[in-house]
Amino acid sequence: MEVLDKELVDYDPLTIEQIFVKIGVFSGVHLDQLQFNIDLVKETTPFNHTEFVLELVQADFRCRDCGHRWSPVDYLVSCPVCQGHGIDRLAGMELFIDSITVAEEQEVDSGEG
Ligand SMILES: [Zn+2]
Repeated sequence: MEVLDKELVDYDPLTIEQIFVKIGVFSGVHLDQLQFNIDLVKETTPFNHTEFVLELVQADFRCRDCGHRWSPVDYLVSCPVCQGHGIDRLAGMELFIDSITVAEEQEVDSGEG
């Protein structure tokens, strides 16, 4: 949640309707676990009305030696084709806010009337 908090400081929490988060399968964060934690603490934060949409990102690795590209289900440290260890991890490690939906009309309860 600390990572998310930092990303969200530019926004007024009350205007945020949805937060789309991308989570790589190898980011170290379990989507179900994060969803559970968010639901748990959300009510006590300004984001209690916000819907968190978590999207799992499959891994995408590429071997620098032979160019083989694959989507590993395990965090392999070597290429399955040439056993090379020079691997570009193109996807699967991310953990970031992809987009944020902000309410168009801000309803401010200023206590008037
Ligand atoms: Zn290779």
